[in-house]
Amino acid sequence: MIPRLAAAASLFCLSLPTVAQVPGGAFRLQGRPAQGALLRGTAPAGSVSLTLDGTEVPVAPDGRFLLGLDRDAPPAVRLVARTGDGRETVETIRVAPRAWRLQQINMVRPSTGPTPEYRVLREGELARIGAARARRTDAIGWTQRLIWPARGRISGQFGSQRIYRGGVPAAYHSGTDVAAGAGAAVIAPADGVIVLAPPPMFSLEGNLVIIDHGLGLSSAFLHLSSVNVRRGQAVRQGEPIGRVGATGRATGPHLHWSLVWNGARLDPQAVAGAMGGD
Ligand SMILES: [Zn+2]
Repeated sequence: MIPRLAAAASLFCLSLPTVAQVPGGAFRLQGRPAQGALLRGTAPAGSVSLTLDGTEVPVAPDGRFLLGLDRDAPPAVRLVARTGDGRETVETIRVAPRAWRLQQINMVRPSTGPTPEYRVLREGELARIGAARARRTDAIGWTQRLIWPARGRISGQFGSQRIYRGGVPAAYHSGTDVAAGAGAAVIAPADGVIVLAPPPMFSLEGNLVIIDHGLGLSSAFLHLSSVNVRRGQAVRQGEPIGRVGATGRATGPHLHWSLVWNGARLDPQAVAGAMGGD
């Protein structure tokens, strides 16, 4: 009895490495794994599901997928593909850390607490934004190389964070700020479907547009002075969606562009690359 049990147990435990070695049973990954980065991959043939550290990853019918690494991604993440008959392919991805800009502010964090009315308003706004981000469309913008939605000096870096006296950190900056002039056109960085557009105007984001690019990737554009798209509309890469402004909480006209994949916050500069002169 005992040898048989031991044999069964070892068979179970050894099934992972054995399967990972079958021809075609490996991941193909493209891109440098670093915090805030977006990788592209192809799942092993026959995969029916894919998870990253236990969270479901959207996969295209041909096996391609995106893999976003959050600003605070741990040093290693685990990608697991499963076939219909339960076989698994496992890959551990080492994630390079980024030196996010930390700014020491020599003052106590301003603590003008929100009024109860504002708290209720903000909860509603965040619920709307969360629902829009959760919408899945069949947009194919994820297959494209993202382009900059506006051009100008980078006036705010993704991931930067203020640390107040006493070591109290504020929320980190969730997007890249581009100091394009007031009224400059904002274009879609890739094909997509508009999942959020004004009205209403949001208290912090102002006029906010969110585009779903498919496969878990979405873009948000904040502080727009005007918007010329509506919810549910399909947009093509390069198509104007609105104009740069300073609506919501903004000290001056600029575009705040944020990128989210499956809940992970990505660095738009790392994804779109250098702005270049074209
Ligand atoms: Zn910003």
